[in-house]
Formats: sequence, structure tokens, C-alpha cells
Amino acid sequence: MRIDLHTHSSVSDGTESPAELMDTARSAGLDVVALTDHDTTAGWALAEAARPAGLTVVPGMEMSCRWFPVDGGRPVSVHLLAYLFDPADAGFAAERLRLRDERLARAERIVAALAADGHPVDWAQILEARNGGVVGRPHIARALVDAGAVDSVDHAFATLLHHTSPYYVPKADTDVLSGIALVRAAGGVPVFAHGLATKRGRVVGDDAITAMTGAGLLGLEVDHPDHRPDERAHLRGLAADLGLFVTGASDYHGTNKGTSIGAELTAPDQLDLLLAAGTGAAPYRD
Ligand code: AMP
Ligand code: FE
Ligand code: FE
Ligand code: ZN
Repeated sequence: MRIDLHTHSSVSDGTESPAELMDTARSAGLDVVALTDHDTTAGWALAEAARPAGLTVVPGMEMSCRWFPVDGGRPVSVHLLAYLFDPADAGFAAERLRLRDERLARAERIVAALAADGHPVDWAQILEARNGGVVGRPHIARALVDAGAVDSVDHAFATLLHHTSPYYVPKADTDVLSGIALVRAAGGVPVFAHGLATKRGRVVGDDAITAMTGAGLLGLEVDHPDHRPDERAHLRGLAADLGLFVTGASDYHGTNKGTSIGAELTAPDQLDLLLAAGTGAAPYRD
């Protein structure tokens, strides 16, 4: 069984439509794929309609969250995967809408600051490219590449869009403890995404993961392209101590990132634990 539980489509910052993503998953020999776009469920129906026979699709999302350190230090950006929640749950739906509005306002501020300093990015082009979906820094990066301001998306992230850049604007993301509660209240399964990926920036300590477990976290994403072997080993130990299941996934973004779909996989017995815990929606399957 080949199981990849974290992928993005063009309704957020991937480059393939949900239908194309289903084809890619099947061609790569996956048996199970989860669609986990940032802060939106807009791809669910499209993926369900395009699902090839033999492929099981787990509807999900990656929620933009923050951990507030107990010592009052600066909040740490964290990503929470949520699977099989009820998309109609009012409390969770309202928070997703707030996050998408927040993304839009923040992207517009980044673009205005870049433009004011003579970096050619066109807000109208970004709005068109996002195609009604969620907007993020990858969209701004593409616009910077198209305008010739940088030579690659990677370069844009390493310079003008880096979190230490003067143009960077943070988002007011959800407190991760409330995020976990919202996911559980909607019958969903919360899993901490790439929790120790130090290559992405600051990460949380074990105290945060313990507190998240107290709030209802059920799993840890361990095998992720951005995790080093020592980071994986630490997370695996924590999961065993805290009674959490573990997942592996590619975090596929099409051509916006170098990783292939299926590059990291989840064990079947761990998927079973996830499926058993989700009561808000059912997987799409034969
Ligand atoms: P945002 O959510 O708007 O802050 O943008 C962060 C998103 O950018 C994440 O979802 C990453 O998948 C993506 N990202 C981060 N670094 C890179 C990179 N070097 N190239 C392409 N995408 C990236
Ligand atoms: Fe992304
Ligand atoms: Fe993420
Ligand atoms: Zn992701």
C-alpha cells in the first residue's frame, strides 16, 4: 500500500488542479492520497469527481496556526493537518474564512511594499492567478519571477519573501490549541505537520507538542522531506510517549517545489488509526 497524506493543488499553492493531482497520484502508483490545501476545502468536490478507480482519497486541509510560547516569547508559525472533518461545521468554516481573508490582506500588503520600492509585481495578475482560491507567498514568488525581478521561486523565497525580509508581513493565524479544538469539534483528525522542520525556521519544543496532545492532537507527521533523520527520530519517540500515530507524506506542490508525489509514505496501520478517528466526512473510495 502506497499512502501519501499531504498534497496541495491549485486551489491553494500547488500547480495542478485537483483533477490533475488525482491523475498524478494514480500514475505514481499511490493507493491512498490526501488532498490538504491550505485553509480551504474548495478542492474536495473536484477531487471526488475526478477520482480514478482504485484510488482512495482522504479529504483534508492544512490549517495555518501559531503556537504562543508560555514564556510570552514570539509566536511560532505551525501547520496543522486536518482530515475527515465536516466541511459544514459552522465554527470551523468561519475560522477558515477568516484565515483566507487574512491571507488576502497580508499578500496585498507585501505586494504594495514591494511595488513601492520598485519591485515589479502586479496585484491584479496575482488575483487572476489564484483563480478564486487561496493566495500565499508562492503566488507572489511566481509574479516576481514572471516580472523578471528574481530568477526562480526559490530565489524569491530566499530573498524578497523570506521571513526576515523587510517586505515580509506575518499572518494572524489561528492559535493552534483552538485550531485543534475546532478540528475535533467538526469530527476531524488533527495531525501536526512537519513539526520539527528546522530548515523552515523556528520550531516548537516538546512542551508545545505535549500541550497540543492535551488539546486533542491525534498524530504527528514524521516522514516529511524537510525533516532530518534526527528530527524524525525525536518525533517518533515523542509519538510513542504521547500515544500519537505517525504519518509520512510528500507535501507535494506540483512544480512549485521539487518533491515528487509519494516521496514519503504512511504505514497502513497508522492510516487505519487516522480513518477510525475521523467522523465528520468519509474517504472517497471504490
Ligand atoms: P505563506 O503560507 O503565504 O506564508 O507561504 C508559505 C508557503 O510557501 C508554504 O506553504 C510553502 O509550501 C511554500 N514555500 C516555502 N518555501 C518555498 C520555496 N522555497 N519554494 C516554493 N514554495 C515554498
Ligand atoms: Fe504550501
Ligand atoms: Fe506546511
Ligand atoms: Zn503543505
